[in-house]
Amino acid sequence: LMSPLYRNKKALSAVYNKNMFHFSKVLPNFINGEFVQSKATQFFEIRNPVTQELISKAPQTTEAEFNQAVSVAAEAYKSWSQVPLLVRQRYMFAYQDKIRTNIDKLAALITAENGKTLPDAKGDVIRGLEVVEHACGISHIYHGETIENIARGVDTYSYRVPLGVCGGIAPFNFPCMIPLWMFPYAITCGNTFILKPSERVPNTSQYLMELLNEVGLPKGVVNVVHGGFNTVKQMCEDKTIKAISFVGGNKAGDYIYENGAKHHKRIQVNMGAKNHGVIMPDCDKEDALNALVSAAFGATGQRCMALSVAVMVGETKNWVPELVEKVKKLKLGNGAEEGIDVAPLCYADLKKNVLRLLDSAVAEGATLPLDGRSYVNPKYPQGNFVGPTVIDNVQPHMTCYKEEIFGPALCVVHVETLEDAIQLINNNQYGNGTAIFTRSGSAARYFQHNIECTQIGINLPIPVPLPMFSFTGGKRSFGGDLNFYGKNGVKFFTQYKTITSRWKEEQDAGYKVSTSFPLMK
Ligand code: NAD
Repeated sequence: LMSPLYRNKKALSAVYNKNMFHFSKVLPNFINGEFVQSKATQFFEIRNPVTQELISKAPQTTEAEFNQAVSVAAEAYKSWSQVPLLVRQRYMFAYQDKIRTNIDKLAALITAENGKTLPDAKGDVIRGLEVVEHACGISHIYHGETIENIARGVDTYSYRVPLGVCGGIAPFNFPCMIPLWMFPYAITCGNTFILKPSERVPNTSQYLMELLNEVGLPKGVVNVVHGGFNTVKQMCEDKTIKAISFVGGNKAGDYIYENGAKHHKRIQVNMGAKNHGVIMPDCDKEDALNALVSAAFGATGQRCMALSVAVMVGETKNWVPELVEKVKKLKLGNGAEEGIDVAPLCYADLKKNVLRLLDSAVAEGATLPLDGRSYVNPKYPQGNFVGPTVIDNVQPHMTCYKEEIFGPALCVVHVETLEDAIQLINNNQYGNGTAIFTRSGSAARYFQHNIECTQIGINLPIPVPLPMFSFTGGKRSFGGDLNFYGKNGVKFFTQYKTITSRWKEEQDAGYKVSTSFPLMK
């Protein structure tokens, strides 16, 4: 109760009461349904992004503790994989209800450790909740395949079966949604799970585990181990874990993709992005500029689907001053307070990196019609704030274009034609998402058909598919071949078991030995 979060009560008062959180100064792991303290000697500090007060510390789980979590998950797999699919789904029905009932608590927790505004934090919960809801009905996509009489007297049929123990490694920017992209599908498919949350926002995962316990999920089905690179390495090299889901940056994603595969695991990695919004001269100007501002500066730019590059086509080059005026109106402050548009960045080192990239933009010849580098919030001078920044006249060779900024900054590139815009975007290594703003159906269709990005918005800035589809980022934004959630999610967490059976009929030919492949008759 003495946690700084409790002392920050005034700011969180709208959704807050003193029994709301069960903060530990040092976060325990969650193994076999129990919260257990690690014997760690190294810890990661989690600080409030607005005040820098220490909220809690996440342990660097020891190798022995990690191995114990894997043994527990392997043991739980023996019985959990035998639980009928419909019964496994029922745990998800109960879980979605628990999450829905506790949206406000989860959102307050996310805001406290990640910094994003409360309404945005609710979105973080709801987008994850939708995946849990979808997991309630995965029996509809869990079927196998059958062909009767594939040869005379022979039938072939396949079942989807779980893989075993699976692992998940999550980033800081969606403390609730991304863990919920992972374990609900994995366990409803019959697997057991080890989650390593981001060491920057581990409290949200801890609360998700409390809610799992409240629905009575059997012990050991989901386990949480805290840590950084050492835990990732151990997960990649572990001999029991069959598959790893990862969401985060490219350095970590490449490591996990390569190292996990080397250790014979199935891998899906969702990675970094540079998403372009193409503004055509015939678009609904007001709507398009509003969409750009929302999608570039929402969550302080810390979204993998943020529109971080505006591609101004033809005469829309003259719209930059109007765009800047809209950005200037955004209100900065503590995300736990009402009416805030742009909160501080999640952690201090990220602020340093954002400033490095903004400085590089100036040094390399771009201009800043709105420069937030020196912004200090008068009420929270310690906060990780960077003022919203518009970087104009950006060229593809510049560092600020090549690297993901992941902060409140919008790069503006000018091109003459739609064709030029498409070429610019297709030349970018990333392929998470893109959007076009136009009133022309044929321009939209031409764009959709010729663009290499694999999630496309038409007059809509952040085209994240709902869970009846899959999150289909492409190019260097994704590694693997089975995407997150939807049908692909079920495929990722299952394998086929295919049976070919022959039942002799009375009139079948007699008995003989044949060493050649049988021919169809
Ligand atoms: P990150 O890569 O720094 O960390 C993600 C996870 O990997 C953490 O759990 C961390 O402990 C671990 N990790 C960090 N460095 C590692 C390394 N060198 N080797 C192995 N593991 C490592 O990512 P982040 O900063 O937490 O998240 C932001 C990134 O995630 C951005 O690049 C963003 O675009 C991306 N992201 C992508 C999606 C998507 O769906 N494509 C969604 C959200 C975030």
